[in-house]
Amino acid sequence: MAGGILQIDLDAVARNWRALDRMSDPCVQTGAVVKADAYGLGAARVARTLAHAGARRFFVAIAEEGAALRAALGEGPEISVFSGHMEGDMALIRDSALTPMLNSPEQIARHLESLPDHPFGIQLDTGMNRLGIEAPDWASVCSRVLENGPILVMSHLACADEPDHPMNAAQLAQFRAMTDGAGVPRSLSATGGILLGPEYHFDVTRPGIGLYGALPFAEAEPVVRLSLPVVQVRDLAPGETVGYGCSFTAEGPARIATVSGGYADGLLRALSGRATLFAGDRPCPIAGRVSMDLITVDVTHLSEAPATLDILCPAQGVDRLADAAGTIGYEILTSLGPRYARRHAGGAA
Ligand SMILES: *Cc1c(COP(=O)(O)O)cnc(C)c1O
Repeated sequence: MAGGILQIDLDAVARNWRALDRMSDPCVQTGAVVKADAYGLGAARVARTLAHAGARRFFVAIAEEGAALRAALGEGPEISVFSGHMEGDMALIRDSALTPMLNSPEQIARHLESLPDHPFGIQLDTGMNRLGIEAPDWASVCSRVLENGPILVMSHLACADEPDHPMNAAQLAQFRAMTDGAGVPRSLSATGGILLGPEYHFDVTRPGIGLYGALPFAEAEPVVRLSLPVVQVRDLAPGETVGYGCSFTAEGPARIATVSGGYADGLLRALSGRATLFAGDRPCPIAGRVSMDLITVDVTHLSEAPATLDILCPAQGVDRLADAAGTIGYEILTSLGPRYARRHAGGAA
């Protein structure tokens, strides 16, 4: 078996959720964002674990994810859909009891016409210019919408991972201006916003990345370990080269381990010659280019070639690997491919 093994510590996910939950007042509800298959870690297992830990509100990006999540969670928890009510979503929203976060006057009309008694929320744009109803449109539809009893009014911060960015206060002020006095539960903050402090918390928070052990939640517990089996080991004479483009040359006698895993598995080609794998706590640098299915690693300094090398482990978390690839932890996690055997430990079945 040559596939990599992705270990996912569900108890750590639950502890991260509780830690984020403790950062807001007890009357603030802490939700959980499990879009993109819980950032690549398995939405069904993660969501059942968090429901067991006390989460009652889950968020996904599209209705199809919501339907799969409803099948995993059963009746009860609220499942909200950020993309709102798209054409063709009516049956999914109705049959899976999803709550669309309506993003435009057009979506509001579609929802109230096709499912007049079905719960919905509203997403407002407070400056990010990505999703949500803009202030002038909100002013004209607000009273009609509020008569229909939205269960949540939300917006999203563009720069919450930069606490000093003036956009945070600007969006907070805009959110207040658009929602003060509406008498509807409100939500503004994802992981970054929770860390900005109580004025950003409102009634419901929506952490994603912090649950999965990455920045901006610096105190998060690591959740994943990724171990790649060594398929072959070879000794090189000085001057021999390794891999596509011959980008690594052995300066002296060298030993190269070839591990199973490559850019088709989310180990980005940008890691070529830059990232490190680990034999326990001993760093072993990548030698040459990451290819589709394989990575070549310099293990010259090890007394024995190991059976596996880790690319995500306590010595190298998601954010450190992201740095090496010039990206963010979110992209590392959501790129983790389908070829890994996902082994969930702890949590709820
Ligand atoms: C993805 C997302 C979240 C979660 O963000 P994190 O930074 O992962 O905590 C919350 N709200 C919205 C609207 C999102 O798109």
